[in-house]
Amino acid sequence: MMQNLSDNTMKKPITCNLFNAGKPAHCHIRIRGGLLHLVMVMIMVATGACTQESADSFFTSAEAQAASVKTEGEWRASAVAMVETQIISRGVTDKRVIEAMKNTPRHLFIPDNVKRYAYEDRPLPIGHSQTISQPYIVALMTELLNLSTQDKVLEIGTGSGYQAAILSQLAGEVYSIEIVEPLAKSSKKLLTELKYDNVTVIYGDGYQGLPDEAPFDKIIITAAPPEIPEKLVEQLKKGGIMVLPVGELYQELLVLYKEQDGSITKRSAGGVRFVPMVKPGQ
Ligand code: SAH
Repeated sequence: MMQNLSDNTMKKPITCNLFNAGKPAHCHIRIRGGLLHLVMVMIMVATGACTQESADSFFTSAEAQAASVKTEGEWRASAVAMVETQIISRGVTDKRVIEAMKNTPRHLFIPDNVKRYAYEDRPLPIGHSQTISQPYIVALMTELLNLSTQDKVLEIGTGSGYQAAILSQLAGEVYSIEIVEPLAKSSKKLLTELKYDNVTVIYGDGYQGLPDEAPFDKIIITAAPPEIPEKLVEQLKKGGIMVLPVGELYQELLVLYKEQDGSITKRSAGGVRFVPMVKPGQ
């Protein structure tokens, strides 16, 4: 499975397109001299085959351990810098989103071997060939949802639980579905420990949504389906918003509005690259 490639190193309020920003930063770090190595890295980027394992092997365990400890003052300073240089500078203005991003200990959602990069402008591997999205993409998608404290939200793709932690602070109730069981278990445990009490993590297939809990005021999909999943559109309330990346090689970040008459209005928020939203058994 491909990495989440929602990387964007530019300082403008845009999302990445396929040609200028779709490469995972941990692939860039690994480019170190030698034509053969360079060619191999180019093939990896072209095929999306930059795996968790390749990122893991780049760090020694001593480096990883040293990076895993952060005082409250340290992580808060890092989070403020992250928000100012990566998020506000690119045009995110929603004050509640900005506060939530400053107040969330992102490093706790990231494995030790890459924790030192927790507040940097890049997606990072979280195991099981999955990634946590770049902070800017999390902020942008959250802003596009236009959350209110009453909202019942469905997230597809819990991953590390970081996006769910952000949603938790801005919405009433959050349901998050994850198809990789160990990720569902670990994010559920972490979100409970950190007292994000209005989040329910469910191990299952996001394509099915949660019919028993529907309709939802807002739905956010953090993996890319090839087409808009109709079952999820059905589970969106009238007046509701869904934010999702759609596509395969070329993906667009879409914002869907369900009007009061049930019709759908769509707009594009730019090109992005995410891990694919998989069908069970894929
Ligand atoms: N929101 C996450 C990052 C998402 S990465 C975070 O904050 O860390 C995308 C996630 O979607 C991965 O964990 C992947 O396993 C999950 N996923 C992919 N297809 C899915 C499906 N059909 N149903 C539920 N989760 C899915």
